Amino acid sequence: MEQNILDCIIVGSGPSGFTAAIYAARADLKPELYTGLEPGGQLTTTTEVDNFPGYPDGITGPAMMLDLQKQAERFDTKVHYEMITKTEFSTEKGGIHKLWAGNKEILARTVIISTGATAKYLGLDDEKKYAGGGVSACATCDGFFYKGKDVIVVGAGDTAAEEATYLAKLTNKVTMLVRKDVFRASKAMIHRVENTANIEVKFNHELIGIEGENALVERAVVINNQTQETSKIDVHGIFIAIGHKPNTEIFAGQINLDENGYIITVPGSTFTNLPGVFAAGDVQDHIYRQAITAAGSGCMAAMDAEKYLAELD
Ligand SMILES: Cc1cc2nc3c(=O)[nH]c(=O)nc-3n(C[C@H](O)[C@H](O)[C@H](O)COP(=O)(O)OP(=O)(O)OC[C@H]3O[C@@H](n4cnc5c(N)ncnc54)[C@H](O)[C@@H]3O)c2cc1C
Repeated sequence: MEQNILDCIIVGSGPSGFTAAIYAARADLKPELYTGLEPGGQLTTTTEVDNFPGYPDGITGPAMMLDLQKQAERFDTKVHYEMITKTEFSTEKGGIHKLWAGNKEILARTVIISTGATAKYLGLDDEKKYAGGGVSACATCDGFFYKGKDVIVVGAGDTAAEEATYLAKLTNKVTMLVRKDVFRASKAMIHRVENTANIEVKFNHELIGIEGENALVERAVVINNQTQETSKIDVHGIFIAIGHKPNTEIFAGQINLDENGYIITVPGSTFTNLPGVFAAGDVQDHIYRQAITAAGSGCMAAMDAEKYLAELD
């Protein structure tokens, strides 16, 4: 029996994947979506989402992602709770792409990659203990909750410097913990940090523990790695800003990635270097990294896929 060829397969179930599914399904592409190991994506790891339009009272991340899934399924998106483990993309326009979920082979004319990115953490048990209770990897998402309070930013690069200057506008005081005796950030960003009155930089300092009550952060335990002296800083929020890792390992060598592993898309579109393969959401965006921008590019990917298929006919 001849194997079915899908018009559209969507890899990933975050806001970009489910938005792509809603648009692709309504365009009659009969999309099949593979959720991967984290159905619902990054937002399932957070509590309040206050900045996604359409929820005037806010919503929890898991509830919002269930809403998106329900909406995608209303238009007959088929959701598979499986992980794509291997891909073999065609390089020809109109070619058939091959993907595998374990031993299952899937053929598709278009592929929308929306596998997201994963925020890097330090690996402390306390980060997990206080996740959603003061530990965050996103100042734009969670900074608002610490208005007028004291916070810590861990990191030395441009992202950390940006998060610190953003938080300095909202909070009472930002303490930056920099592991070495220098920043890794660009000169311009260092200059911004140095010229912000309520940022204190502690070089050669590392976060080694978190203390609090009722799973809410109250203190950071830090060590001076030169003197080995430990101390405690009273804070409500701890922002880990040591980078993100795009989930692109299985595509490496097949699709153009930038030096940090993000999929390169043609600006203003979701086209990759491969015909019929599109990328949406955090997997191709190291700048905005928001649910709404991920959803927006998911919509673009479905429209780009639909147009690509229409041009083949
Ligand atoms: C703690 C936290 C709080 C946040 N709060 C907010 C907020 O308040 N507001 C906001 O706008 N943004 C927030 N963000 C950012 C937001 O979550 C992301 O920008 C958004 O989820 C990105 O969506 P995405 O669709 O690109 O991918 P993700 O949400 O990263 O989802 C990726 C998906 O791909 C799947 N996947 C990965 N590999 C495979 C594979 N091989 N096969 C199949 N599937 C695969 C995963 O299982 C997952 O479902 C927050 C992020 C974090 C971590």
